[in-house]
Amino acid sequence: MIVIMKAQAQMRDISAVISRIEDAGYKVHLSEGDERTIVGVIGDGRPLDRDQLERMPGVERCVPVLKPFKLASRDFKPNDTTFPIGNHMVGNKEIVLMAGPCSVESRSQILETAHAVKEAGAHILRGGAFKPRSSPYAFQGLGEEGLKYLAEAREQTGLPIVTEVMEPAMVPLVCEYADILQIGARNIQNYALLHAVGESQHPVLLKRGMSSLMEEWLMSAEYILSHGNTRIMLCERGIRTFEKYTRNTFDINAIPVIKQLSHLPIIADPSHATGKWEYVAAAAKASVAAGADGLIIEVHPRPEEALSDGVQSLKPKRFAQLVVEMKAIAEAVNRKIS
Ligand code: PEP
Ligand code: MN
Repeated sequence: MIVIMKAQAQMRDISAVISRIEDAGYKVHLSEGDERTIVGVIGDGRPLDRDQLERMPGVERCVPVLKPFKLASRDFKPNDTTFPIGNHMVGNKEIVLMAGPCSVESRSQILETAHAVKEAGAHILRGGAFKPRSSPYAFQGLGEEGLKYLAEAREQTGLPIVTEVMEPAMVPLVCEYADILQIGARNIQNYALLHAVGESQHPVLLKRGMSSLMEEWLMSAEYILSHGNTRIMLCERGIRTFEKYTRNTFDINAIPVIKQLSHLPIIADPSHATGKWEYVAAAAKASVAAGADGLIIEVHPRPEEALSDGVQSLKPKRFAQLVVEMKAIAEAVNRKIS
């Protein structure tokens, strides 16, 4: 349930409502909007008398939230969630561009790519140091060495870093280096990891699982939110269908649907969504037109030599061209890529 306070409610009215709810054994999450405060009632407690709550000073009305996700829902927080990453506000009018290789492969590779994507207009550098690979025999990433190279790339370019964390025990280490923690598609229901990332209070890029319903994806976000971490970006990276010509099927529907259901920013990953570099630009441009708040795109200076996902990686020159095209589309839909 949520308790919607009147626009003119006083702090003491809000405090009284919070005490009443907590006394009944629930947890409270506050959503402080420009106009009014919404008090979210979370958890299992004794039945609350809705009429009584509605008679309290400053309360406008109580609304049951029937969706399984509460804190992630627009009912609880009508306004878009925005937060800064580096010099950028995520979730605002401006679309944020993350780019870089699938994996950090060497110091020179990540430094070269970082400078190239910055030059092309990226705002955030991506690169996996811990890689979730389908085969145990495939390149597993450079681990902490890779994180160090990413930090050096940030120092040289000023680009904040997004990189994947795969297990709860690694969260403190990855937080030391990363500006954004990526939770990969394979880990979206790793609840211990969601818990640890929620506690970390670090910004999160939460990929959709390859077979996740949008509701399950939002429930994963709910885990992170329930630990007080509100800086979450949801990332559509394609889902598994019967189609074989592409690696995944890009569910562009997720962009407007998530926008309607949730206040959290939505990012598109056209690289994993298509799996072939030839299709990345089309999916990327469609994402901008559909209202994505950002994109994460794999770029490699020599895709043919890449240790992972070379087939779907753009060369820096193509990425630069794509940025120019996306800028025009962004303007047409009243957004901006700076
Ligand atoms: C990646 O970003 O390189 C990655 C492994 O993505 P996903 O978890 O979406 O497969
Ligand atoms: Mn990849």
